[in-house]
Amino acid sequence: MKDHFKALPFFVFLLCCPLLIFAQNIKPYISARVDTSKTEVKAIYQLYTNYLNSRPDSSYANPYWNKNDYYPALLENQIPIDRSASLMFGTYFKGFMKYYEPLILQIDSLNNNLYQVKTIFKSNKAEADSTGTSISYITNLYVQRDENGNFKLENTINERTRNWETIHYKFITYIIHPNCKFNEKEAENAIKFCEEIAKKFGLQIKPFKYYILPNVDELGRIYNFDYWTYYIGGQTNLPLREIFTTYSNTNYPHELVHMMFPLQENPPPNIISEGLATWLGGPKYGVSFEQALKETSKTLKTYENPTFEAIVNNKIRNKFDSNLQYVTGAILCKMAFEKKGKEAIWTLYHSDKKDLDKNIENIFGKPINEIHEDILTYILKE
Ligand SMILES: [Zn+2]
Repeated sequence: MKDHFKALPFFVFLLCCPLLIFAQNIKPYISARVDTSKTEVKAIYQLYTNYLNSRPDSSYANPYWNKNDYYPALLENQIPIDRSASLMFGTYFKGFMKYYEPLILQIDSLNNNLYQVKTIFKSNKAEADSTGTSISYITNLYVQRDENGNFKLENTINERTRNWETIHYKFITYIIHPNCKFNEKEAENAIKFCEEIAKKFGLQIKPFKYYILPNVDELGRIYNFDYWTYYIGGQTNLPLREIFTTYSNTNYPHELVHMMFPLQENPPPNIISEGLATWLGGPKYGVSFEQALKETSKTLKTYENPTFEAIVNNKIRNKFDSNLQYVTGAILCKMAFEKKGKEAIWTLYHSDKKDLDKNIENIFGKPINEIHEDILTYILKE
């Protein structure tokens, strides 16, 4: 299960001349349904083509995009403007385009000043997934004219959620899909949980949004996808301070932990961020840390000589979840906390890939190999 956005490295670009950049080289194919003899369709086709050629993986005020989508996080170079970008290609758009061909399926008017561009990204054989499927994504971006009458692309989230019920509950703003129900008792538990975490680690609580969704496809839709291959239970987008759940639940401890800990310029390795969320909030909705630990202990016993590295590098893992890695990280956090309290947790959280092992050695006062062994022994004895 993929739980939160991968952080993207910083991009360097020239603020003063965003248009000089690249000669156009990506030209999406079009289906028979796209009638470019119509002026509006042709203009939107050109807009989308320009956008594909304007480094969609970079975080900057893209000139082909609606200014209302220029979030502060975007301008601080944290995330690309298109919500589907992080999930499709991260920071490697050029690499992605080697394997995926864009074909525009539709350019339609949805109402007066709202249009959609629907595009299928078909993977070539080299990137076909384990079932041999060549369709990986169908994106759906919206287009509206701006105040000067120029077409601009935009994320679909605002239009799609415009009429959804919104409830402000203390520091959480719930945005609720029409097929879901807000549960006040759960909301109260969510608030209490956040307050406990804040107290335990000396955190400052900042307001955030919480989208309640009934299933994965509905999450895809507000991320600009009509089809995607992801299965996501919940996700936290720290730069935008948003939590998404696909289980219709009002309280989601694992994601709340991600939200409570601050955004880092260099985020901690997954084993730490997911370990922390799993130790304090379980690996996913409806599964406690204790349950996951028992399951992981059972699973780990089926491997001959499992190692910490193999777990961290996903060389051994469950097919449909990341619990082996999450629980291993959770035990590391738990043992560190028992050894040196919240200071140890902050040391881990402020670590990056390079200094993590050294910092762990400092917390436990012994060589990293021994600590790794202690962690696996802890799990196996359950
Ligand atoms: Zn997570």
